Amino acid sequence: MKYSPQNQTPADADVRRAIKPVIVYPVDTLPLPNANIYDEARANLEQIDEVIVAPRDAECFHVPAGHFFRIVSIEGPQVGDLNLWNVGDVNERFFSGKTRALHGTHVSVGDRLWSNLPYMRPMATLTYDTLDWYGWDDDGGGVHDVIGTRCDPYTNVMLGGDEYHYCCHSNLIRAFAKSQSISYDAAEPFVHDVLNVFMCTGFTKDTHQYFMKASPVRPGDYLEVFAEIDLLGGLSTCPGGDCSSGHSSDDAACYPLKVEIYKATKGLPADWHPAERSGYSRHHGAKE
Ligand SMILES: [Zn+2]
Repeated sequence: MKYSPQNQTPADADVRRAIKPVIVYPVDTLPLPNANIYDEARANLEQIDEVIVAPRDAECFHVPAGHFFRIVSIEGPQVGDLNLWNVGDVNERFFSGKTRALHGTHVSVGDRLWSNLPYMRPMATLTYDTLDWYGWDDDGGGVHDVIGTRCDPYTNVMLGGDEYHYCCHSNLIRAFAKSQSISYDAAEPFVHDVLNVFMCTGFTKDTHQYFMKASPVRPGDYLEVFAEIDLLGGLSTCPGGDCSSGHSSDDAACYPLKVEIYKATKGLPADWHPAERSGYSRHHGAKE
């Protein structure tokens, strides 16, 4: 929204603006994870698999329920765009918008990654983040946002750019199509809004526009995620690299990312169970 109003300010404008905000989804109504479960499980982890995602590309990977995965920075600062699906039914996927509404614009340890309607359950829980020290910078920026959608060739062309085929959207299409042995056309509707891993973003203070700045991530940093259900992950190495200037081109320096899959060698606490899908009846007010 830009500020060139066509209407006169009403006499009680200050009163209306002074009303205090309320949190849309108070966190005390959320089914929050029991941190002890994750602390206990991650105390004895054994790496069972790893996947390297080449620059300007994407890979899919499986994470069984009750396992962990880490997205690890290697070689240089690099942003990753993450998609998640339920392995058994890929119609269930990560719901970036609702995750944002519940947990805020950026996520870190203790926050959960929710699935779309009608499934609506925590697909994953964030359990460790080496960038948790970053907090909020003076520009209002933070790390790991659920604001951005993913860079895509359609927006790039709309804004006057050349055709570019290695945006995160296209990278994820190629990876998902390969994982499901389907065509790119069939795969495209399953690619969805992402978790921007390691990306540093916010909204400008004057126009509230989405901004990015160089990611603070360095080799060795990682984001650790616990799978609450059997997950298929898709991770794209954004062509923006550290996203300090542009994307949707080959201009930025890009680096690979590593995904490590871990098993809890001493098992999981007895009070952990795979997340259940929403208990809503799906009645939707139908007239009998
Ligand atoms: Zn991207």
